[in-house]
Amino acid sequence: MSLFSKELAIDLGTANSVVYVRGKGVVLREPTIIALDSNKRVVAVGNEAKLMAGRTPFEIEVVRPIRDGVINDFETTESLLDYLITKAGGKRGIFRPVVLVGVPSGITPVERKAVIDAALHVGARQAQTIPEPLAAAIGVGLPIEEARGSMIVDIGGGTTEVAVISLKGIVVGKSTRIAGDEMNEAIISYVRRQYSVLIGEVTAEQIKLRIGNAFPLEKEEKMEIRGRDLVDGLPKSITITSEEIRKAIQPVLEEILNVIKSTLEITPPELAADIMDRGIMLSGGGALLKNIDRFLSHRTGILLTVADDPLSSVAIGAGKVLENYDFYKDALL
Ligand code: ADP
Ligand code: MG
Repeated sequence: MSLFSKELAIDLGTANSVVYVRGKGVVLREPTIIALDSNKRVVAVGNEAKLMAGRTPFEIEVVRPIRDGVINDFETTESLLDYLITKAGGKRGIFRPVVLVGVPSGITPVERKAVIDAALHVGARQAQTIPEPLAAAIGVGLPIEEARGSMIVDIGGGTTEVAVISLKGIVVGKSTRIAGDEMNEAIISYVRRQYSVLIGEVTAEQIKLRIGNAFPLEKEEKMEIRGRDLVDGLPKSITITSEEIRKAIQPVLEEILNVIKSTLEITPPELAADIMDRGIMLSGGGALLKNIDRFLSHRTGILLTVADDPLSSVAIGAGKVLENYDFYKDALL
């Protein structure tokens, strides 16, 4: 490959998009969000668009183009790819860039083609895709080339993906639309039920990041939050505890646990034995929920480890594929 052509690995996540440039590492991370005006023209992308969420006048609409792990809005996804490729410097240099995009493992051939076409349409010279769980496994350093079972659980914003990998391929995999977003929604409905107070998605996420947890904390925490009182319609401030948030998101955690268990149930016994021995790796932003590893270990009896940089695992893995292309090329979709 030419020295002058940039090679980019792109994780188009439901919540965050991350770009890795071959030879440089992760250069960019932005929310997968786009703001559109009434003519569907792009007004803002990424961080700038996120600041607008929940605070826009009627004529501006803020959308998450990949909300459920699939492209549900082709044109905005194209705008997003264009923005990311340009901002990562992919359009500088003489030749057009080569792009490798992480896609959900359950993607249909039509959706996969849509991703490739979008990348080509915004100027890529060559575009390929890699299943996200495989990229995440490479990113966290699992020995995916060995004839042994490795399990990765990636908890993102819109989807949780569970995969058992051996010999560079996904042997069994499951995906569910229950992940970080659902935790936020569970927090919103808890606060409404318990306190008759309405809070927005941004506040719910702040609560989750600050005091959210999956298993009792050494020191339980409190947080003051603001919302709208549903009784008198006025702004109201309440104090909420980490125990309450744990209880509120419990159903979501149970659902994630069920996906892990049902994947283990269909895993060939030799590979399941490897996983018992070597444990399960957690990636994705949801892996940062306090004590999620302890909760899942407690309930499965298997050791869980949180990846070092769970928000970057997919992009790092896809980047490693670009950097060791011959070794990994049979792992590509
Ligand atoms: P995606 O791959 O779907 O874009 P990410 O891997 O970027 O998702 O993870 C985003 C999700 O992780 C969001 O739901 C976000 O709220 C959640 N998240 C990020 N940091 C934390 C944290 N410290 N605690 C709990 N959840 C977190
Ligand atoms: Mg992801």
